[in-house]
Amino acid sequence: MTSVLLTGIAELVTNDPVHDGTPLGLVHDAAVVIQGHRVAWVGPRQQAPDADDARDLGGRAVLPGFVDSHSHLVFAGDRAAEFAARMSGESYAAGGIRTTVAATRAATDEQLIANVARLGAEMRRQGTTTVEVKSGYGLTVRDEARSLVIAGLITEETTFLGAHVVPPEYADDPAGYVELVTGPMLDAAAPHARWIDVFCERGAFDEDQARAILAAGGAQGLKGRLHANQLGPGPGVRLACELGLAAVDHCTFLEAADVTALAESGTVATLLPGVEFSTRSPYPDARGLVDAGVTVALASDCNPGSCYTSSMPLCVALAVREMRMTPGEAIWSATAGGARALGRDDVGVIAPGKRAHLTVLEAPSHVHLAYRPGVPLVAEVIA
Ligand SMILES: [Zn+2]
Repeated sequence: MTSVLLTGIAELVTNDPVHDGTPLGLVHDAAVVIQGHRVAWVGPRQQAPDADDARDLGGRAVLPGFVDSHSHLVFAGDRAAEFAARMSGESYAAGGIRTTVAATRAATDEQLIANVARLGAEMRRQGTTTVEVKSGYGLTVRDEARSLVIAGLITEETTFLGAHVVPPEYADDPAGYVELVTGPMLDAAAPHARWIDVFCERGAFDEDQARAILAAGGAQGLKGRLHANQLGPGPGVRLACELGLAAVDHCTFLEAADVTALAESGTVATLLPGVEFSTRSPYPDARGLVDAGVTVALASDCNPGSCYTSSMPLCVALAVREMRMTPGEAIWSATAGGARALGRDDVGVIAPGKRAHLTVLEAPSHVHLAYRPGVPLVAEVIA
């Protein structure tokens, strides 16, 4: 296996505290040796070992590839008109999902595959090297299973979200829909999914339904995560903590007991500030969560309704400017935090033995990602 020595790294974010005693694990004038698909050595340039090949990155900053732990990339059509209406003063309602469900059901496999590939490439260009992709716009046995097969073309982190919204044909029989999700739909989805997720929110699925769906998924080997407390206070965050789920996502409307539950559990609070930005809504209290000792992840929630951005750099900039995270906290949450939210220890960190997923910035420091919002600063992705 050929080894490559990378130098010319003005600042390296490792997320390995061994280097400087901080969570970000910064090394200045750093070097990294990559062997095959793994990192073999990390440290100051002067101490770097020899390697077969060498590359000088020209004084740029390097960080772990972004780990985007929450996206909905399998869909057809777009909702630009709905966005324009919302920006004209209408409010976001969960039912808008049904527009995309109709378009997704009508799409061919080829159309869905092309859209996933396009969005996956778009993420990669912006520094994302690991992405979680959910189903949830099919909502039939056939369409959920094919959505997961298609998601699996670009990632191992696939999530069954049959419980996204009750589809129109079950509007008068939500209990019947839960039976479908926990029965034949789960049977068809489980071989193609790693995770199971529920939109636990008023207008979607309540606590009892969420418990039943997560339990059924667990019985088939799927690990749980939740969409919760996005549109208002609710039981979802406390349920996720009680069940010890890897992550609970949105966390926009939290009560004190929710914050306590998160701080005392291992459940990651995944914040999705692109949603609040795109729906002109109040942001979650990231500062309060971090100060309370909660592990916070940042993710895009890329989807055609509430947040059609694939940009983790935008999420970092919003987290700093609008949610009062420091640039270092935001970078950690968009990399190591996302890895925690997916139960992964091989990504989100640059350390010996971990996957060689590196994002190279056209900038000398990670701070520029928040300092220069909207600028395409990702020079290169090594993965
Ligand atoms: Zn989502």
